[in-house]
Order: sequence, then C-alpha cells, then structure tokens
Amino acid sequence: MITAKFGGTSITARNLYHLKEIITPFHNCVVVSAVGKEHFADTKTTDLLREYFVTQSEGVWQQIGDKYRLLVEVNGIKTDVEELLRDAKSRALAFDMPYCASLGEELSAKIVAKYLNAKYVEAEQVVRFKKGKLQMRQTYANARKAFHGVNLGVIGGFYGGKDGGRETFSRGGSDVTGAILAAALNSSLYENWTDVNGVCVANPSRVHGVDTIESMSYDEMLLLSKSGAEVLHPDAVAPVEKKGIPIKIGNFLNPFGNSTLISHCPSQSKLLSIAEKRLGDKVVTTVLHTYAQWQIAAVVSEFLRSHSHTVNFFDRSAEVSQLCVYDVEFQPSIARLTTDVSILNSLYAVLSSKF
Ligand code: ASP
Repeated sequence: MITAKFGGTSITARNLYHLKEIITPFHNCVVVSAVGKEHFADTKTTDLLREYFVTQSEGVWQQIGDKYRLLVEVNGIKTDVEELLRDAKSRALAFDMPYCASLGEELSAKIVAKYLNAKYVEAEQVVRFKKGKLQMRQTYANARKAFHGVNLGVIGGFYGGKDGGRETFSRGGSDVTGAILAAALNSSLYENWTDVNGVCVANPSRVHGVDTIESMSYDEMLLLSKSGAEVLHPDAVAPVEKKGIPIKIGNFLNPFGNSTLISHCPSQSKLLSIAEKRLGDKVVTTVLHTYAQWQIAAVVSEFLRSHSHTVNFFDRSAEVSQLCVYDVEFQPSIARLTTDVSILNSLYAVLSSKF
C-alpha cells in the first residue's frame, strides 16, 4: 500500500481536484498540509494562524476561514464548514502557539477526508510527543491501530499530541508525518506530492529550464535537504530509509510527468545538484557531483575569477560589482562556496555548460 503526502499548494480550492487523479485503490494513507498559497502574494494558513495567535485579529481569522470556505465551495464538498471553523476557533487561543498552528492541518484533513470519502484520522491521537520529543514506538503502534482495516484514511501532517496539548514539527513538517506514517504502516512507497517536477538539478523556481534528477540515494537527498533544497524536510528521510521504503517526489500538477525516486541506489548523474542556503547575511552554495576533485576545483576557480567583477542579473544582485567569497571547500563529491550574494544561477550556468 502507498502513503501519499500532499503539500499546501495542492490543498487549495483550484488544485484539490488533482488528488482524485492521483489516489488509487493502492493508497491507504493520505497526509495533508494546511491550505497553502492560492497565488504568489498570498499567505499560508499556518502563517495566518501564528499571526492570529499573537494578534487575535478578527480580520486574520476571517482570512483563514475564507480559505477553507472556498476549498469546500469550489469543490462541492458536503460538510458544514462553518461548524468546523467555529469548533477550531473555540480552541485556537485556548492552548499555546503550536496548538493554534496545528489547526490548519486539522481542518484540511477533515475536509479532504469528506472529499475523498475516506476516514478522518486525528493526528493528535496518533503522533505523540513527550517533552518536545517524538515518541516513535508509541506513534508507530498508534498509526497501525488507527489505520487497521481502513481502506483510505486522511490525517493532518505537521502536528501531534502531547499531554495537555499539541506539538508541531518544524516548518514543512508534514513531510515528516508522511515519512513516519509510511514507515509505521510498512508502505511499499512514500509519495510526496509537491508543485515542482521532483528534485531538480537546481531550485526550479530560481533557475529556468533545470532537469529533474530521476533517482538518488537517501544520503544524497539528506545532504541536499540540509543544504537548502526545500523540496523535502530533512527529517523525512530517516524513517523511510530505515525500512528501505522508496520516496517518490512528484508534481501533483503533472502526476505522470517527471519525478524523483529516492532509494538506497545513488544517482547516476555527474552533476547531481546545486543547493543554496542563507545563513545570516552569507549564502552557502553546495554542489553535489561525481567529478574528480581537480575537475570541479578547476571549474570553480575559473568561475570565481570571472565572477569577481560581474554577477549574473538573475541573482538579483546586478548592482553588486564585486563578489565577496568567504570560503571555498572541497570534499569528495561536494564543493561548497560561501559568498555574500546568491551565485546559484551563474554557477549553474557555468557548471552545466562545462560538464
Ligand atoms: N503547514 C506547515 C507549514 O506551513 C507544515 C507543512 O506544510 O508541511 O510549514
């Protein structure tokens, strides 16, 4: 059986119908995020809930409510959304910030369960925390019990229960819930549905025309996640890796298009990926590759020489005439550069043309 996790962009009024294209009789567990951004300038439900907890603004609660009203209305879901919102609001300020932030996933799961004619599974009773730490064994046992004999169950990602309240994983943590559920239920596959074509050679929202990496190992994925690739939460790797369950990262907008399969098999590509992470006012760019160290070192050195005066316009730093390089580090299969501005586009252009 398959566990599938759907990110916030898929749980929006105009995208929800894709779930019905993707879910098959082989799926038995669906993990959902809170409603995400409807458009570029929109705010995620989780951010609105956090704001509501601080400001208690009726206007902010209205925005949250409207996202779920639209989700239900556009997709013709037969559920009393006003009652769901009233119930959520009655608990939103009664506990702490994590509790309030969890309500987006709870609402999504209740609504999606109705939409898919599936069983709603309450994450608070399955995923358990104690003193901020996930209780793995208890969580696995709860998950097996909750999904036993269930054709299709829908559970909210990102949160779980603790004595007297709820706890959340860090941001993007629905990926972690998905991995835990896949491992607990011994799924044959963990599908992670996002809005990009799997894991790409560089962040596709920053670099145009990048290819999807067809397959890579858990270790390679973990390194990329830790280096700033936002496509999968780094804590989502270990639970499935331990059981050898492959992860498929696919695009819900193009379910049969390019996707990435993560398993014990390392990638076949020479230039695997370039990821970027901001650390304060510094930018760390990590290149994962299988070239000889001298080859990559030669290209990087040439890049640095030619880019110390001009920086690619796409890095949104055209006004910077001098690239400041703080550190360059070469380890087997990894090159890491620490600079003052993003070099993602320009470094990608050089590496992909050279190799
Ligand atoms: N809704 C949470 C967030 O925005 C968790 C998730 O989407 O995975 O971070």
